[in-house]
Amino acid sequence: MPVNDDVDAVRERSDSDERAMNPADSDGSQQSTAGDGSQPSTATHTLPINELFHSLQGEGKLAGVPTVFVRTSGCNLRCWFCDSYHTSWEPTHATMSLEEIVSTVEQYTQTTHVVVTGGEPLIHDDIVPLLGRLDEQGYHTTVETNGTIYRDAPIHLASVSPKLASSTPTAATDPNGDGEWADRHERDRIDFEALARLVDAYESQLKFVVTGRDDLPEIEEIVEGVRARTDSHVRDTDVLLMPEGTTRAELNETRRTVAELAAEHGYRYTPRIHVDVWNDAPGT
Ligand code: SF4
Repeated sequence: MPVNDDVDAVRERSDSDERAMNPADSDGSQQSTAGDGSQPSTATHTLPINELFHSLQGEGKLAGVPTVFVRTSGCNLRCWFCDSYHTSWEPTHATMSLEEIVSTVEQYTQTTHVVVTGGEPLIHDDIVPLLGRLDEQGYHTTVETNGTIYRDAPIHLASVSPKLASSTPTAATDPNGDGEWADRHERDRIDFEALARLVDAYESQLKFVVTGRDDLPEIEEIVEGVRARTDSHVRDTDVLLMPEGTTRAELNETRRTVAELAAEHGYRYTPRIHVDVWNDAPGT
């Protein structure tokens, strides 16, 4: 049963307070508050948190595993289909200290799995000490990332989701209707150096959100591009095809095509269990 009550611990601040206390650029990233270069105690670190809840991991190699989700706010990309709109297009302005995050995670005693997701969690400096604290406490950490940023941190599974051309918010697909982010999104969405570093450093999965058959040539191009730059063996079963859709009705449109593509090409199909079970309910 998904639980979302602990997000009450998130302290809401006004937009002006947030900007004054945590200078951030338009991607919503947050730099460490240790202005003198020293490493202060984690109690002084904060992260923008959109929600913190317990549910089942819905996607990927660990699908079905009870998991605590820490969803950060802020992203350097703007996929038109983003399933966490309030972390990218309209990021919330709420923060939690690392102490608050860890103590809230510890309340869910039924699991030792934590997913750090977003948004793009790796844009924030303080994600590194958070992952360090969770590792020290014995948690298995999965980081859900778009693969454009590398961080050296205790990550047990890097769930890397490169964004395809079909994700670009054109004027026709942009939820704001103006296509303002299209050029930046298109410029930044693939970074082969970051992808290869993530795959080399961590156990990983390459998870693609697939809108239809037209996405396959680009997926194969990206997989081969990563393989050419990494010393790691990227198996076909490390490549996950996931149907685009944030509601059961939308998944019904894409699920079969994506499953057939996976079977045809030897890749792994991943469901979206949370959508199948809870549809688009928040906190799942
Ligand atoms: S990279 Fe992820 S969080 Fe960022 S806009 Fe795309 S789907 Fe949303």
